[in-house]
Amino acid sequence: MRTLALDIGGTKFTLGAFEDDRLILRELRSTDREGGPQAMWPQIERIFCGWRDEHGFRPDLCGIGFGGPIDFPSQTVTLSTHVGGWAQYPLIAKIENLSGAPAVMDNDANVGGLGEAYYGAGQGLDPLFYMTLSTGVGGGIIHNGRVYRGADSYAGEIGHINIVPDGPECLCGSNGCFERMCCGLWLERDYGKSAKELLADPAFVVKYVVYLARGLKAALMILNPARIVIGGGISKAGDRLFGPLGQELTKQMPEWSRAPARRSPRSARG
Ligand SMILES: [Zn+2]
Repeated sequence: MRTLALDIGGTKFTLGAFEDDRLILRELRSTDREGGPQAMWPQIERIFCGWRDEHGFRPDLCGIGFGGPIDFPSQTVTLSTHVGGWAQYPLIAKIENLSGAPAVMDNDANVGGLGEAYYGAGQGLDPLFYMTLSTGVGGGIIHNGRVYRGADSYAGEIGHINIVPDGPECLCGSNGCFERMCCGLWLERDYGKSAKELLADPAFVVKYVVYLARGLKAALMILNPARIVIGGGISKAGDRLFGPLGQELTKQMPEWSRAPARRSPRSARG
């Protein structure tokens, strides 16, 4: 079985070619936030045609992870809060035409959660909550080996719970959202430095993990997951971030919960 995988994020997008579960080809490009899908599509086309013509890659299936809410039954992008022009863009039809194979799309955190549950840090752990800490903040709930989507496909969208009353305005129109306080896009806008630079400063980390723990606490209290796996670019900070985060979570969680005891030393995925 050959699969074409496409990950569309607010900062970068990646194409992968798989032969069964083995990655054989991979290309990564920067996302043009202003250009939206019109700027991205010709690049996807070019990469895919190169693989087809030079490597004879012809997929049997295509899987797409999209960095924003999607309507799963209709297989359409609801919107991207970070990149304009995606709402109602006929991505599935275009990929199917290009590749000649059926395509399925889901929110990137749901897809990431499935990947961790089947192949990564969440194997054998149910329910699993996967969170991307990246350009934005997203979440995916995996239970009994499947994505829990809720009634309208947005279950797990933890980025827009409010963690700071009357906090700064978020791109979603609300205030003090988890994503607004913790994601890479806003860290850079608020502080004029990248998340990587900011998290190199232990004094900043101590303040940052207070917000991060508030968001994670919501997931813990509602889902009581067997594990939370945190992926995305910011998770690459590793122990510098996860050490103080574990301490802060232990402080915020009720003593009777077993979450602190369940904490594994490191569950990061880049
Ligand atoms: Zn928001």
